[in-house]
Amino acid sequence: MEVPFFKLDSAGNELRYIAEVLRSGWLTTASKAREFETRFAAEVEARHAFAVNSCTSALHLALEALGISEGSRVIVPSLTFTATAEVVRYLGAHPVFVDCEAKTGLVTKEIIARAVEAEPDIKACVVVHFSGQSAEMTGADGIEPYCRERGIKLVIDAAHAFPAGDEYGPVGSIGDATCFSFYANKTITTGEGGMVTTNDDAIADRIRVMRLHGINRDVWDRFTAKHVSWEYDVVAPGYKYNMPDVNAAIGLAQLEHAHEFRQKRQHVADQYTKAFSNQESLRIFECRVNPKQHAWHLFPIILEGSCALGRNDLIDRLNDDGIGTSVHYKPLHRMSYYREKYRLNGSDFPATEHIWQGCLSLPIYPALTDEQVTYVIDRVKLHLSIA
Ligand SMILES: *Cc1c(COP(=O)(O)O)cnc(C)c1O
Repeated sequence: MEVPFFKLDSAGNELRYIAEVLRSGWLTTASKAREFETRFAAEVEARHAFAVNSCTSALHLALEALGISEGSRVIVPSLTFTATAEVVRYLGAHPVFVDCEAKTGLVTKEIIARAVEAEPDIKACVVVHFSGQSAEMTGADGIEPYCRERGIKLVIDAAHAFPAGDEYGPVGSIGDATCFSFYANKTITTGEGGMVTTNDDAIADRIRVMRLHGINRDVWDRFTAKHVSWEYDVVAPGYKYNMPDVNAAIGLAQLEHAHEFRQKRQHVADQYTKAFSNQESLRIFECRVNPKQHAWHLFPIILEGSCALGRNDLIDRLNDDGIGTSVHYKPLHRMSYYREKYRLNGSDFPATEHIWQGCLSLPIYPALTDEQVTYVIDRVKLHLSIA
């Protein structure tokens, strides 16, 4: 049996909406992108949503709009993809890497507080909703009130977390700005693409301008309005981060199935959870939120010290079985650029190190059949000699 690590599910209106874009003759950002933004904003209960060409662009725009600049210090977890930290460097600012909570892979208020005490001049914090569940943002132990009270800007890297939330609301409605990814293997896709949401009008105004060359949109909009005008002003050296309508067409079609996709991934997660709970040789992450509010983008398992087989050996054996896996993540403190530039040491990231040594991510996507999931479970159990 073959079980690829990811396979696209696109049985909806993708082709129809793409055809509409092609027939309209307007391939770049126009009505489909606008519609995608409007629907996405409603979905995550945010005032503003901006469709962009990647989550990386979204993160860059968010930090720029929050005033992150040369020399600013920004908290970033080590257990993430390099995009989360590289955007800090784009602005000449410096990531301050932090560890995560062992049982969830998420950052907590305590972890952030420790970093702030050691380095009082923190301007912003990027929280990653690792694997698809929200970190603890709200309430007495929430990250959001902690940051707000200290004037620390809060950006959420929600590349794994759509649709997701907790008892306080959907991911996308909390914090200064939230960034989503529609990369090919994310929970919904546009091929390449992203979205940045915010409830703050001033942040929204800055993102709107910087997304498209720093051109003053009030003037630019007149091109598509009834009253045509050639004139526009450039108010800043902006970026070229807009999402083309061809991609937005795919996104709109995917968005229509986002909850059904999530439910199917949860069905896969339920089977893995049942199979791999209460084992000696491996563990799975704890679910902090209601499982219905978890996006279930990734399903990592973590091999423990008592396990006879190493992580890389298990990956090789599963690969021989036709099962694709991946590793999320080789931590950023182990990447030569960050390690050397910031003289990072693994002993400062004990939970992240422990996760990294033993983790691999199993296939989890809507198109997986029960037979495939059972096959993955059986092969993992066989190789780890567990019943
Ligand atoms: C995928 C991913 C990104 C980058 O998304 P792009 O849309 O490819 O730019 C950023 N952060 C995390 C945690 C991701 O998984």
